[in-house]
Amino acid sequence: MKVSRGLLDFLLGLGKSSVPDEFVVMLRGEGGVLTEALLPPDTEANEFQVFYAEESLPIDVSVAGTAHSHPGGALRPSDEDLSMFRSRGVIHIIVGTPFGPDDWRAFDRSGREVGLKVVDVGLDEKWLEELGRVEDFAEDLL
Ligand code: ZN
Repeated sequence: MKVSRGLLDFLLGLGKSSVPDEFVVMLRGEGGVLTEALLPPDTEANEFQVFYAEESLPIDVSVAGTAHSHPGGALRPSDEDLSMFRSRGVIHIIVGTPFGPDDWRAFDRSGREVGLKVVDVGLDEKWLEELGRVEDFAEDLL
């Protein structure tokens, strides 16, 4: 499993701009590379906890995991995090204060730290992916 540098930068930036609140997003990817973040629509964040209504989460088979921030800085999953990890996806990223390039860790669904390679997804590749999607859509119409 890999993560695109663009997504990681987005998550670190979102963590920084959300302080003192946490954020929680769902992650999506294709071909083993995490590339997209989905914000649950009814997220209500405060300093201590993030609440979200289960039924408001997008139902999407390609959800690969979650990412959230720890404004306190600890890059370890809490007990609440572990129950979220178990219920959703296979890879979970935590970003923490001060949200520098190395202030993140990835975990599997049981909370064990896993290595996640950061890759640059080139614009061309992204564009080809989009084009592929358009073609699939067009084929479905035929
Ligand atoms: Zn947490």
